[in-house]
Amino acid sequence: MHQAHSLSRRRALQFGAVTAGATLLGFSGAGAVANAGPVPPDADEAVGADGASAGDTRFARRFAAARETLDSAVMTSYNDWPVGSPASTIGVSWYAVPGTSPTVNLQVKSGDVATVMMYVARRFNAEVEPLVDDYSSAYAYRMNVNNPSVWSNHASGTAMDLNFDQHPNGVAVSRTFSSGQVSKIRSILDDCNGVMFWGGDYTGTVDAMHFEINVSPGDSRLTSLAARIRGGGGSSLRSRANSRFVTAESAGTRPLIANRTAIGPWERFDVINRGGSSVALRAHANNRYVCAESAGAASLIANRTVIGPWETFTLLRNTDGTVSLRAAVNGKLVCAEGAGSLSLRPNRTVIGPWEKFDLIT
Ligand SMILES: [Zn+2]
Repeated sequence: MHQAHSLSRRRALQFGAVTAGATLLGFSGAGAVANAGPVPPDADEAVGADGASAGDTRFARRFAAARETLDSAVMTSYNDWPVGSPASTIGVSWYAVPGTSPTVNLQVKSGDVATVMMYVARRFNAEVEPLVDDYSSAYAYRMNVNNPSVWSNHASGTAMDLNFDQHPNGVAVSRTFSSGQVSKIRSILDDCNGVMFWGGDYTGTVDAMHFEINVSPGDSRLTSLAARIRGGGGSSLRSRANSRFVTAESAGTRPLIANRTAIGPWERFDVINRGGSSVALRAHANNRYVCAESAGAASLIANRTVIGPWETFTLLRNTDGTVSLRAAVNGKLVCAEGAGSLSLRPNRTVIGPWEKFDLIT
């Protein structure tokens, strides 16, 4: 939770914005900020000073709906979530991002939104770049700077800016993120099933620091994503050869083998859709992709950081409800070799019990 360290200028600005909330309705400096050039003169001014621009037509309907609430008792940000001040009146609280050191605290909407935002922030910190507390922020009671006719999603605690000093509003994504980092962000977004929108994908003014909830309250995609995250996420494979769960043995340093009786992190895999029935498997044990090593001549092992042909499988759904995996690299079926006593290998052409798995989500 938020620690009572000295109030940074950033937070002073946020708290100042709370008391000045009413006057922010007439906020007029937005155009100046949005058009101020590639790098704001003071990074502190980037907190919440962003959002989808009026020119991004994908948000036109949401903008209109949010504007309609401006005279009502419950005003909403353009993603349809209630805005308010102080934060506690709309259920916005401080949360520590897991895995951050020193701890990064973000003030976001509690419940499913917080679950999803902490998930994205945690993975951003672990996979894209370390988060810095002084340059990461969420709740801010203000209008959307890139389109000041609507409330910012920051005002509902459903948007966050990650490392905003490094990724300023209006600066091209490619100038502050490597292509590898963008791939990691895409992977995180894919796993959120449309629930999270990245400001790097805005048209008009891009906003690479910015992530926002892109569904309305009660949307089933949000509910199911949050439930999946709380449950540890991922899927497990249980072999029909021996009824044991497939594990990324020794935290992924040894080949996959079906020898476990319970599901823990080593037995969880993200099944990543690659189009059609094509999938990749990412082990929770080490966040690496499962590879048909040596072009399928060796066992499956979770040791790759990118998806290529060796990390691609066809997910076959059998009529008895089980699944089988066919390695793209050699066209062979993955087998729990030795009735499960040996590691998984892509070396069979016919589906029998050793090539069948229950996919458990
Ligand atoms: Zn933002």
